[in-house]
Amino acid sequence: MDRIIRAIAADGFINMAVIDARDTVQRAREIHGCSPTACAALGRTLCAASLLGSTLKTEKGSLTVRVQGGGPAGILLAVSDAQGNVRGYIDNPAVELPLKSDGHLDVGGAVGREGMLTVIRDVGMREPYVGSTELVTGEIAEDFTAYLLESEQVPSACGLGVLVDRDTSVRAAGGFIVQLMPGAEEKLIDELEENIFLMDQLTTILDEDGAEEVFAQVLKGFSYELLEQTPIEYRCTCSKERFGRALACIDPGELAELIESGEDAEICCDFCGARHVFTPGELAELAARRERDDDQEQA
Ligand code: ZN
Repeated sequence: MDRIIRAIAADGFINMAVIDARDTVQRAREIHGCSPTACAALGRTLCAASLLGSTLKTEKGSLTVRVQGGGPAGILLAVSDAQGNVRGYIDNPAVELPLKSDGHLDVGGAVGREGMLTVIRDVGMREPYVGSTELVTGEIAEDFTAYLLESEQVPSACGLGVLVDRDTSVRAAGGFIVQLMPGAEEKLIDELEENIFLMDQLTTILDEDGAEEVFAQVLKGFSYELLEQTPIEYRCTCSKERFGRALACIDPGELAELIESGEDAEICCDFCGARHVFTPGELAELAARRERDDDQEQA
């Protein structure tokens, strides 16, 4: 079962969360038919969105991470609800590059480094809160760390990883964010970074020892306490009704054309691949409802 686990350390001056998201990333890979490199890029973005999204204080809030680096992967998008359930999308799921000299998937090459990482927080206010920073490496974790420091002024360290097996299934996926709370001594971040530098590879820990061991290695030398665990999953919020509302908003001429064609209209969800079919009768109903709504507005 995928989950997010939280901990506090150093008398509450350090906050840490770990996500174990193998099934979630595997599901994303199946939906989008991702190549290993696309799977790693999208998987890391999903994990980051989930970690941040799960800290939203508004139950119905959502958090969107958008990565546009100018690379062959195109735009990556991940949307999390306030519990950390995520869905995502990558422009080019077939992108594949040669392995880097260290044997790792070339996520930075696929994503590109010329662009922005944008985080949109929707907490039910009239305007969502939007923050963005320039990409650093396109490897996602470094970009995220830069975002948290520059845009949110929180000294943080972040690790994200996806291990793709030889049969291209996802063997391990997850990540962590560790942050200093206000009033913490700055040198704490140096100690954490030292631990992170020395720790085993994140996906190896998740694969072999489990998420709890990530805390043990990142927080080595600190006293810490594990707090709550939250189950998370790949979860889309689309429905035929939602797509119907969107269809009712397209250009009236286009809608009339669809109805006159006499054929079913099929819309495919970008996030989960679900196909929502509207018969000409249902489309006519949408058009009629729209006219009624327009009349009401004018009245
Ligand atoms: Zn969907």
